[in-house]
Amino acid sequence: MVSDAETRAVYRVLYDTRATPLTMGEIRERVSSLTGKSNLQLDRRLRSLRTFFLVPAVRDKDHRQRFVYALEGWKPDADHRTARKTIRASDRALTFHTYGNRCAACGRTPKDDHVKLVIDHKVPLELGGTNEPDNLQPLCEEDNHAKQALFADHEENAEALRVSLSLPDAHLRIGELLKSMAGVEVPKELIALVAREENHGDPTKRMRELRALGWKIKNSRRKEGRRSLSFYRLESWEPWPPGGPKAAIAKLEHARKHARRLEAQAKAAAEEGT
Ligand SMILES: [Zn+2]
Repeated sequence: MVSDAETRAVYRVLYDTRATPLTMGEIRERVSSLTGKSNLQLDRRLRSLRTFFLVPAVRDKDHRQRFVYALEGWKPDADHRTARKTIRASDRALTFHTYGNRCAACGRTPKDDHVKLVIDHKVPLELGGTNEPDNLQPLCEEDNHAKQALFADHEENAEALRVSLSLPDAHLRIGELLKSMAGVEVPKELIALVAREENHGDPTKRMRELRALGWKIKNSRRKEGRRSLSFYRLESWEPWPPGGPKAAIAKLEHARKHARRLEAQAKAAAEEGT
């Protein structure tokens, strides 16, 4: 998608400076020092990034005559532009049906456990979630309150969550959230939220993959009432591999399988020899 090194460097600079956006001249300087190239077609690269990302030029707060370029996130696709303002009754019914009338978090049902189920937005609307069925799930009132409390606790991280959610791949989304909260215990639920994967995905697997890329992530658990809570704390990280984390992880996986196959062959050969 963002294929050449210079365009990726422009993205990197825009991403790193999204809180304090830079002018075109400043971006040019940073990208040049990153790539070692002085002859950048910055305009063209910015245009190609804008196919996928929202990068509006806005007036600098302190110097009103200057324009700065702020990366706002992933460009919404046509679906999002026509997003519904409310949840349709049929989508509500479909959601309950899809989850078998169970709370998506604890599995309890109104019939057997006398809990009340409400419709929850997996990704909250204020973080860019939609009213489309794939963003809806039933939660019991208790789990719904717990989720709201989780967001209330992490209100100061809302912007980090929003930015992470807008990135194109699960490793980037999880990794960038961990980076923006480095040194802090991040609840597994927040990781699962930004992972945006089917069936809650499996943060444990993604963590293993990030660790394989050289990231140091500590896991800790503790009990709070009847809930068992799990946290991840980022201690150090590596830059994203040039071709993106997905490709690098697939490559590592492939190498591991290959090594295992060789080992099995060697073992079989040794057994035959005896
Ligand atoms: Zn529940």
